[in-house]
Amino acid sequence: MRTLALALCLAAGSALAQSGVEVSKSRLLLLPAATVERSAAQQYGAMMREAAQKGALNTDRQQVERLRNIARQLIPQSTRFNPNAEKWRWEVNLISSKSVNAFCMPGGKIAFFTGIIDQLQLTDAEVAAIMGHEIAHALLEHGRARMSQQLLKSAGVSIAAAVFNLGQLSAELLNQAAGLAISLPYARKQETDSDLVGMELAARAGYDPRAAADVWRKMTKLTQAAGKGQPPQFLSTHPGHESRIRDIEANLPKVLPLHDAVRRK
Ligand SMILES: [Zn+2]
Repeated sequence: MRTLALALCLAAGSALAQSGVEVSKSRLLLLPAATVERSAAQQYGAMMREAAQKGALNTDRQQVERLRNIARQLIPQSTRFNPNAEKWRWEVNLISSKSVNAFCMPGGKIAFFTGIIDQLQLTDAEVAAIMGHEIAHALLEHGRARMSQQLLKSAGVSIAAAVFNLGQLSAELLNQAAGLAISLPYARKQETDSDLVGMELAARAGYDPRAAADVWRKMTKLTQAAGKGQPPQFLSTHPGHESRIRDIEANLPKVLPLHDAVRRK
């Protein structure tokens, strides 16, 4: 068990030191990043093929270009939070669907649904806030942590087996974990950390970080308007909490100077 404890300690991330916001990386990362990224890429590829078959992939060229332009500003800021992101094969696609949703899978696989852009009438800064938040989940390896947890749960494998016999896990099992990992709610701490990192990415990329609070105000309004109907899909994976907007606003002084510095250039 001594070896196991050591392995888990090594997997636990340390606090990321830099100017701007302060967050800590995920713990209990049993699955190697490369394994997680490979299976996320497979899942993402399958989703995009399915969308293409339905004639729902990247149909609005203008919106696709807009999303990719914003991603091009945000991505260069990402290595600050995860040096491996430099090697990621980033992708940004737009799916035509009423679903109010967006995600970034491990390894930089981003998707936006037209529903979130249309229903929230997103400005560029608001798109950057959402995309930055999604990218932050990937950089902080929240998906990797969830996949590790899901694997332990769904496969019933012990931690020791997962640590020492990863090679024996089937691709099917990994894909199952990857699928579950993008459909489950993030923990509150993960949401808060992603809000902060997302704000910093946006600020450094030249987008007004105050837009993050606007997004959540719009999301709240949309939820209220939905009443007993279907709440935005985004909220099922990104649960809102009462102090969210307050937390975002309390952290603005850490990122506004970064935004001002970019604007002055
Ligand atoms: Zn989130």
